Amino acid sequence: STFESFKLNRQLLNAIEEAGYSDPTPIQEQAIPIIQAGHDVLGIAQTGTGKTAAYALPLLMKIKFAQGTHARALILAPTRELVMQITAAIKQFSVYTDIRTVALFGGVGTKAQIEGIENGVDIIVATPGRFMDLYLKEIVIVKHLNTLVLDEADKMMDMGFMPQIRRMLEIVPRKRQNLLFSATFADKVEHLSHEFLEFPTRIEV
Ligand code: AMP
Repeated sequence: STFESFKLNRQLLNAIEEAGYSDPTPIQEQAIPIIQAGHDVLGIAQTGTGKTAAYALPLLMKIKFAQGTHARALILAPTRELVMQITAAIKQFSVYTDIRTVALFGGVGTKAQIEGIENGVDIIVATPGRFMDLYLKEIVIVKHLNTLVLDEADKMMDMGFMPQIRRMLEIVPRKRQNLLFSATFADKVEHLSHEFLEFPTRIEV
């Protein structure tokens, strides 16, 4: 199949073309229609498979355009590097839209990140620790979140982020779409998928 065969708008298709993507990768081919149908997804995929675009493109279609002040989508990832990489990809895909994406991670001051959030945000990409820190400071407002993504969930668990992830699940709205990506399907990931996902479609590449 081609990117044209997905229900993506012209703005996204132009950005995809400029990114140099000609054909969808297997994870993109499988995940994009299922995510667009509104299902929860458990994706078992390594880095390098194109998993970022597999969730980011349908997410951008769902968000459509900048709206209000508070984020509608939250993507959690284990490291600052991955948060920056995901943010760069989303910004690249959304370059012809007005969608606002803010990256939150530790190891740097909060001032610029707080300003980013307070200017209005549609998508937050964050490490679990900094996300929870700015939530507790009432900078991050979670009441409009309708999509959650856990990227490299196995690595987040290995790094000890499970308490922050559990706490996050307690504070976000109940009605939402959940996407979980992991390089492995270890017992701990299976356990998390039961806590986090509702009737998920499992995709493995
Ligand atoms: P990821 O697995 O999301 O980290 O992506 C790995 C690399 O593949 C990144 O450099 C992407 O820009 C690139 N990539 C993702 N999807 C495609 C595609 N459909 N065609 C060509 N390159 C892609």
